[in-house]
Amino acid sequence: MLLIISTHKPLCDECLRSLTVKHILLEFYNLKNIREKYFTFSSLKELFENVDVDARTIVDFIKETNFLPHCIVFFLPILH
Ligand SMILES: [Zn+2]
Repeated sequence: MLLIISTHKPLCDECLRSLTVKHILLEFYNLKNIREKYFTFSSLKELFENVDVDARTIVDFIKETNFLPHCIVFFLPILH
């Protein structure tokens, strides 16, 4: 299980919306090309419930967007 929390909520420089995890992962249009290399989903629920997208993929995407300093990423072991 992966939990990502924004450390603060600055505004996105481009669209002036809150720079949330959702904005980075799904909404920010300027990241579209980078995002499509990793995943294409329309909701966070879809993204985090999809078993084909592992935590590493999401973290790699955030790293490539240079938004990692804005996020605290926790990897929680999945308990069976
Ligand atoms: Zn934006």
